[in-house]
Amino acid sequence: MHIINMKENRIVLSHGSGGKLMHNLIENIFLKSFKNDILDKLYDSGIIEFKDFDICFTTDSYTVDPIFFKGGDIGKLSICGTVNDLAVTGAIPLYLSSSFIIEEGFEIKNLEKIVKSMHAISKKAKVKIVTGDTKVVEKGKVDKIFINTSGIGIRDKRIKLGIERIKEGDVVIINGGIAEHGLAVLISRDTFKIDADIKSDCAPLSGLILEILKETDKIKFMRDPTRGGISATLNEIVKNRDFGIIIYEEKIPVKKEVLSICEILGFDSLNIANEGKVIVICDRKEADIVLKKMRKNIYGKKAEIIGEIVKKPEGKVLIETVTGSLRVLDMPVGEQFPRIC
Ligand code: MG
Repeated sequence: MHIINMKENRIVLSHGSGGKLMHNLIENIFLKSFKNDILDKLYDSGIIEFKDFDICFTTDSYTVDPIFFKGGDIGKLSICGTVNDLAVTGAIPLYLSSSFIIEEGFEIKNLEKIVKSMHAISKKAKVKIVTGDTKVVEKGKVDKIFINTSGIGIRDKRIKLGIERIKEGDVVIINGGIAEHGLAVLISRDTFKIDADIKSDCAPLSGLILEILKETDKIKFMRDPTRGGISATLNEIVKNRDFGIIIYEEKIPVKKEVLSICEILGFDSLNIANEGKVIVICDRKEADIVLKKMRKNIYGKKAEIIGEIVKKPEGKVLIETVTGSLRVLDMPVGEQFPRIC
């Protein structure tokens, strides 16, 4: 598989899209050198095992454009994204770092707004920012502000999550409507002269996730479908595995406004980023318990079972459309929208 843009041998925007090219880059450049038993798992957090508990550790950089959008801002996003990557690996998120790379000339009042937003959402997510860094670069060398957050959380030894636990017949659950974050960011850009009432779903999911983990030990695996949308996440789950996934289009929660904007702009809602959603793979027998618990949480009111694990075709995601036809849902390839998170 060729990793780099063949013509140029340079990085292209699609290398950061969460799709095929990014996965190739990770495998053929990063993993080739950094390879170790923790990183190789490619979970949302690195899981470091200790005798009495596990430590989960994650990091993420935020470059979203624009920095303020409907339903959030770069600061809120930088906390939620990192909290969620810890939560989906089963950890209680505890401590975060925050690093700022700021363009010379950036307005201090906007920085204050971002920092206040980070503080407010940290309180909600029950995490503390305990270390940080600030760099300022010359005008034009970075676009306004980039933020990196890392986070650590602690995981109970009894929590066992992993793709290897997934079995035929398990169900695929999502906690609510898809594609809202990506679209909200896009329509906040001046390039799209669209005025729709779509807000980012950006939210910390640690509360919801801990609640369902307490309810049952039959949750097999979780991942937040961010860049590349649910298409990317589901394809990551089946990759090189002896099972496949089938999802049912009519079961996927999605707002009418989202679908109509997708239609106008020619996007597939399945490929669009979410920032407050989690895909949960769970034993079918416990699915109702999980759904019930999710729906009681403010971030899970629209939770649904959207599909199941099937024996064949191995390593593939199928979608049964509303018209009843079956097609393969591929890992997104190109870059639909850079700088969505
Ligand atoms: Mg993630």
